[in-house]
Amino acid sequence: MTRPHLDHLLNYIDGSWQPSAGGHVGINLNPANTDDIIGEFSESVAADVTAAIDAAVAAQPGWDAVGPVARAEVLSRVRRLVEERIDEFACAITREQGKRLSEATGEVTRSLAILDFTIGEARRMNGITTPAEEPRTVAMTFRRPLGVVGLITPWNFPMAIPMWKVAPALLAGCGAVLKPSPLTPLTSALLVQAFADAGVPTGILNLIQGGREAGEALVADPRVAGISFTGSLPVGQAINRAGAGRLMRTQLELGGKNALIVLEDANLDAAVDAIIYGAFGQSGQRCSATSRIIVDRKVHDALLSRLVPRVQAMRIGRGDQDWADIGPVVNDEREQACLDAVGKAVAEGAQIACGGKAVTLDTPGYFVEPTVLTNVAWDSELAQEEVFGPVVSVIACDGYDEAMRISNSVRYGMSGTIFTQNPSLMFQALQDFEAGMLHVNRPGVGSYVHLPHVGAKSSQLGAPECSPDVWNFYTDLRSACIKY
Ligand code: NAD
Repeated sequence: MTRPHLDHLLNYIDGSWQPSAGGHVGINLNPANTDDIIGEFSESVAADVTAAIDAAVAAQPGWDAVGPVARAEVLSRVRRLVEERIDEFACAITREQGKRLSEATGEVTRSLAILDFTIGEARRMNGITTPAEEPRTVAMTFRRPLGVVGLITPWNFPMAIPMWKVAPALLAGCGAVLKPSPLTPLTSALLVQAFADAGVPTGILNLIQGGREAGEALVADPRVAGISFTGSLPVGQAINRAGAGRLMRTQLELGGKNALIVLEDANLDAAVDAIIYGAFGQSGQRCSATSRIIVDRKVHDALLSRLVPRVQAMRIGRGDQDWADIGPVVNDEREQACLDAVGKAVAEGAQIACGGKAVTLDTPGYFVEPTVLTNVAWDSELAQEEVFGPVVSVIACDGYDEAMRISNSVRYGMSGTIFTQNPSLMFQALQDFEAGMLHVNRPGVGSYVHLPHVGAKSSQLGAPECSPDVWNFYTDLRSACIKY
């Protein structure tokens, strides 16, 4: 079995590792130490994408024919291989994405849970039988694979997000072309190698490294029946526009500007724990990261007096330093975006309670202090737009109604969180949040693989990922009436 050359990452097309037809390469850097050049990867061009789609189109009918239970057996072998390679995956994630090794290991184990769930679905991906309108007739529904799908992924969960697309695509009987972020090419190469080693047939799973050019070519090919995309809102909108003319199915998982509401009766210590985890875990680079704390004025100062010392005590380090509480952001662009957001907010009247600066460590990297900004106006740019870094805004409010109005004032709707002891308001909040993933008295990030990963408003379009709802993307529903 060929292995990918880890310092020169190629495309995986039709069962073999191949250089890009264009011959261009990109450089993969360690964000915690830019002296650590991880390697090169192919910067793919449209011809590579066409070859990958050719392979998937040719292989897909055979894969469809073997049925979901046999396909799940292949996924079971993938699971065993990933479990054997947990450390290899976790080290790759930390080295190229930057997150702490414990967070990277958590991402790998979450990928195992995604596989567990998907494998079980092989025996549950049901249609229904239903009463017919005529005698001696059976009426039923069943599912067929969508066809060939394009899977375009971001860098923040370089393993879990590709896994929660590739595993259901393959179980459904689709052929797939994975186009990961150019910031995390290594993890995806290792992932695709695990699928290849597990015996996924030639052509069924193809990997195209590179950036926008490859992504656009994938979206533009009319043989691609659907694009499952996770990333930013502008790119999601561009994909939707590009596919609209041919009614291409899209599953768009986009950005967030997530609120954590703290009411006057909240357990403040629990709220602070949730903020530390939700706002600064993975350096704030999660679509569901807590980025606005909307706190009742009556407990505003008490919350800050607990929160700020905890944030100031966080130790910034490389992801492979086990004492570190927070790692780097992914690149210079993200570092600058965080610093710019802080600068602009301060110019608009916000105050820095802690953090706000880049940090220099003994290795050159992209480190930003965990930052809390207070006195943030609910309609300021900082309070409305995604920062995608370790920067959290504190917005004061008076009571539940105002908190909820501010929470819902943004165009995004990924997650919503409330801390209160009042059961009536807990359930009222579930009705009122204009957001997809809701949390009460717990951190606003993380959901279960058997719950839909779902957003509202501009955070999501199409069938959600994870949970049985995912089959509404990867399969077509058929109805049938059989007269006997
Ligand atoms: P991005 O939109 O810049 O890129 C995402 C992917 O799209 C990459 O693979 C990129 O190469 C590709 N791409 C870029 N332009 C393209 C085009 N025109 N056509 C096709 N593909 C194209 O996002 P990112 O910086 O990698 O990730 C951060 C964003 O992802 C944030 O907005 C974050 O909120 C979002 N995100 C959302 C979820 C979710 O589940 N909703 C999860 C993680 C991240």
